[in-house]
Amino acid sequence: QSCNPNHLWRKKDVLASFPKRDLYAHKGSNGKGMVIGGQALMPGSILLSARAALRSGAGLITVATVRENIPIVASQCVEATYHLLEGFSGGFQSRNREAFQQMDAIAFGMGIGRQNATMLRELLESTTCPVLIDADGLYHWKDLLRSQVKRDAPTVITPHFGEMAMLTDRSVAELKQNPFSISRQFAQQHQVYVVLKGKNTIITAPDGEQIVSDQGNAGLAKGGTGDVLSGILLTMLMQHQNVLIALANGCYLHGTSAEYLVEEKHSEIDLLATDVIEGLSQVFRTLS
Ligand code: AMP
Ligand code: MG
Repeated sequence: QSCNPNHLWRKKDVLASFPKRDLYAHKGSNGKGMVIGGQALMPGSILLSARAALRSGAGLITVATVRENIPIVASQCVEATYHLLEGFSGGFQSRNREAFQQMDAIAFGMGIGRQNATMLRELLESTTCPVLIDADGLYHWKDLLRSQVKRDAPTVITPHFGEMAMLTDRSVAELKQNPFSISRQFAQQHQVYVVLKGKNTIITAPDGEQIVSDQGNAGLAKGGTGDVLSGILLTMLMQHQNVLIALANGCYLHGTSAEYLVEEKHSEIDLLATDVIEGLSQVFRTLS
């Protein structure tokens, strides 16, 4: 299933492409995913991503984070399992590699801090599942652009305009004038999927194909909503073979949840990232 260039992603597109739940499904068949992130003093972002991934229908989610965060995150996300993240500076650990290789998709970088890129390199080189890179993880990824990374599987980056400016060494103003062509050029050059987040979100495949998601509202202009998007996208990646469609569906769910919440319960002022996770229920009910 392919889409026209600059296709505006609508509910009918989601209905036509959203994976059907299998009556005989078990947790393994609904996908296994991992969220990697969270340094000490930053437990919130990885918690939001994990909860959003679970609320989006993931079969199993493992949270990989530092020791200090595990009791905090686990107390608010009892459905997940936990993997102790060590070796930021110690380099590669076979324990990590074994855990990575069991996953159907992995999201890296939420609240992880901007330390060195050793772990991200190992992650990209040792896996064949889709890897999504967000937030601080994008700084690690930029470091890797200077060297060769051996990878033969989809990589997704989810920058907002500030992060995209950092990645492309351009100003935000320049980016705002030409978001489509700069995204396309970057996606093709680095052979990655780019989800450029903003009021409208532009999703670009490595071959240059583009989809726009215009759902959502200014209630999303708060800390944590990007972490929620990463969790939703992670689950979509686990459950759809077509990466571009998975990403478009995930952006639709995120934005539409915010729209329902502002119409019916909250306002753009008080809406929080946590609410966007809870609002997913209503979006899913309209899809079945
Ligand atoms: P981040 O900047 O990483 O926290 O991500 C913010 C999320 O909220 C992205 O998915 C944006 O597309 C969305 N967002 C932020 N501001 C707006 C806005 N004014 N209208 C619609 N979506 C927005
Ligand atoms: Mg963010």
